[in-house]
Amino acid sequence: MTRRASRQVKVGAVAIGGGAPIAVQTMTKTDTRDVTATAAEIRRLAEAGTDLVRLAVPDHEAAEALAALVHGSPVPLVADIHFDYRLALEALRAGVDKLRINPGNIGGADRVRAVATAAKERGVPIRIGVNAGSLEDRLIDKYGGPTPQAMVESALTQAAVLEGLGFGDIVISLKASDVRRTVEAYRLAAGRCDYPLHLGVTEAGGLLPGTVKSSVGLGLLLAEGIGDTIRVSLTEDSALEVRAGFEILRALGLRSSGPEIISCPTCGRCQVGLPEVVREVEAGLRGLRAPIKVAVMGCAVNGPGEAREADVGVAAGKGGGLLFRGGQVVGRVPEGELAKVLIEEVRRLTRG
Ligand code: SF4
Repeated sequence: MTRRASRQVKVGAVAIGGGAPIAVQTMTKTDTRDVTATAAEIRRLAEAGTDLVRLAVPDHEAAEALAALVHGSPVPLVADIHFDYRLALEALRAGVDKLRINPGNIGGADRVRAVATAAKERGVPIRIGVNAGSLEDRLIDKYGGPTPQAMVESALTQAAVLEGLGFGDIVISLKASDVRRTVEAYRLAAGRCDYPLHLGVTEAGGLLPGTVKSSVGLGLLLAEGIGDTIRVSLTEDSALEVRAGFEILRALGLRSSGPEIISCPTCGRCQVGLPEVVREVEAGLRGLRAPIKVAVMGCAVNGPGEAREADVGVAAGKGGGLLFRGGQVVGRVPEGELAKVLIEEVRRLTRG
């Protein structure tokens, strides 16, 4: 698919836009002021594969914690700031790699100028994060509500303010909690600017509805070539947001990281405890980065075909299954050892 041409910004060592791989990001759920807990969450999210981590910086104490967090972080950090421009300045001094602000709510022109100047000096990009729930009254009146047009006008007006100050390292997001409005807003923005776009459906919900909403919204846009970085918002562990983000990209062939596990839903033909085998394989391969395709199939109907196409796979039968490697049957494995053998095979193949 052809991706929309966008300008590139650098967030620490991670490039966003300009044809760079689509970056997956998430947000910590700890209290940022609690450095120990937040640093541990950042490390855990880095291990889960996230490219960037964003932190809420609601007050001065949280801003004070940033220096230690930046210092120990294995991935670039983004400070999320509302209302108080001094927090943005503190975050920049602490060494964050990106700011998420809403220039519309951090005060007058002199304050926006102070933040833009400090960010420019440090080569730190700014995301203008427009949210349908907090649009300017002026635009709500003009458009009769938080419409996609209003959201895009808000973002581009704020971007023009930064551009007017000589600041162009801008990323835009246009989030609403419903998929149609989100998609429409991003499509509009994609045609009207070359800023890299941070995609997300906000307040998407719990694990299942949130993942479905995000997959539909982000999937539609990504399939049209729109989007440079993504965040899946879930009322859940942030590591699941990261995992969902990579799965969306993988489903569209946009990024492959870690094992892809192909497993059948099982049916009355399956004669082994396949869901348990899949859970064990998933758990055993968590954290692996090498791209590898693993098939875990329940019977001889589609099992051998899928297992043959994977790098390694099993097609289960009664009490066990046939093990495939590189398209060939290489052995028979008893049910109790299916997961263990698959994990060992994957580890062996990805080492060499
Ligand atoms: S592979 Fe076999 S067990 Fe799995 S869903 Fe298909 S028919 Fe059922």
